[in-house]
Amino acid sequence: LVRFDKVTKRFGDVTVLDQLDFSVDTGKHVTLIGPSGSGKTTILRLLMTLLTPDEGTIKVDGDYLNHEERNGTLAKAGEKHVREVRKKIGMVFQQFNLFPNMKVLRNVTEAPVHVLGMSKDEADQRARELIELVGLSEQLDKYPSQLSGGQQQRVAIARALAMRPQVLLLDEVTSALDPELVAGVLDVLRDIAHTTDITMLVVTHEMSFARDISDAVLMFDKGKIVESGPPDKMFSEPEHERTREFLSTVL
Ligand code: ATP
Repeated sequence: LVRFDKVTKRFGDVTVLDQLDFSVDTGKHVTLIGPSGSGKTTILRLLMTLLTPDEGTIKVDGDYLNHEERNGTLAKAGEKHVREVRKKIGMVFQQFNLFPNMKVLRNVTEAPVHVLGMSKDEADQRARELIELVGLSEQLDKYPSQLSGGQQQRVAIARALAMRPQVLLLDEVTSALDPELVAGVLDVLRDIAHTTDITMLVVTHEMSFARDISDAVLMFDKGKIVESGPPDKMFSEPEHERTREFLSTVL
């Protein structure tokens, strides 16, 4: 469903992703691990089209994300094409980024109505289901500032799912939370991973969560994948010295 083909991304002289190849099949959950600065967030930002690759191609559900095929050659994609492909992807950030002036329900209905053109009634009904899924049915009428960080993050998860993405990107979604609020958010995400067919790319330092939900773990270092495999193997018998070193700092 997602395929990176020889993707290189540089910031100035620094090569952050170096000829990166990897793919994620439909319905699979892949966790990206690795030291700070190894390029994990850059991958998610490329998928959100907040960045564009310097070299290589990214495909989502069979379509190039930044390119269009014209007369048999690959050209830079127009804005409309990018917007269409991009709709298949949802993201939850470390900072929840909710609309502060809108109540919980409206935070979740806003994009489906204005971006997807969903009717207000349909968006409303779907939002209520998702808000129930994340355990916040009692909070529909509150503003974000009246909720805990963990509750706000659960609204952000409902808001991302309301766009019916095929791929959900999670970027260290519990890092900004007080420790006692982390478990509630991870429980919601475990539930979504185990009960829906959504494809997930996850950056997290929560290794037991990664072990629970991942089909595969990719270990990054300096913009390359140094090792990948199923979580049991990666966490119990890592082969690469860099993986062992990294895991000793987070396990
Ligand atoms: P972390 O776990 O700290 O979030 P990461 O693996 O997600 O790390 P990235 O955020 O992808 O790493 O960053 C990779 C490198 O790219 C870092 O060295 C970072 O400083 C650099 N970088 C990221 N964004 C930019 C930017 N907009 N301009 C310049 N350099 C950047």
